[in-house]
Amino acid sequence: MRWTAETCEHKTRYLEVEAYVKDQGVPVAYAPAGASDDSWRVGRSSPNPPCIVIWPTAFEIYGWEIVTSVLIHEYGHCKLYEAEGIWEGIEAERNANDYGSRQVPPNLVPARYGEHRRFFLRSYETQGRFASRDQLLEAIRDWPAKDGAMSADGQ
Ligand SMILES: [Zn+2]
Repeated sequence: MRWTAETCEHKTRYLEVEAYVKDQGVPVAYAPAGASDDSWRVGRSSPNPPCIVIWPTAFEIYGWEIVTSVLIHEYGHCKLYEAEGIWEGIEAERNANDYGSRQVPPNLVPARYGEHRRFFLRSYETQGRFASRDQLLEAIRDWPAKDGAMSADGQ
């Protein structure tokens, strides 16, 4: 689980991204604790008006870096919708990744953003793959070991 190595630096950067997103007029809220069986989730957004919800449990499960990448992705969804009116579908998922990383100052984008996003993209490419907390955690445990060929260049 080397993804979850915690440092103050990572937490600080998450908070900087959150502040940046809020400054751009997109509210970032936290899912209520124990609201549902969704505690394995990381984030969700809605397009109109734009709003992002982050699961507080995600910081413990995935670490600050991954949650930062998810926040940037969700922000990308909001910007994609604003610019192109596109919200759902696999293309929206891919484009939201690009929008997010382009719309946030480069120094705030985690070095492994691309790697994190490829991981979550698989849940859309394989229907129902991450339909439960167990499935997702199992996949996280196995990854990137099984996909070791994937570069760590953050692309
Ligand atoms: Zn998405």
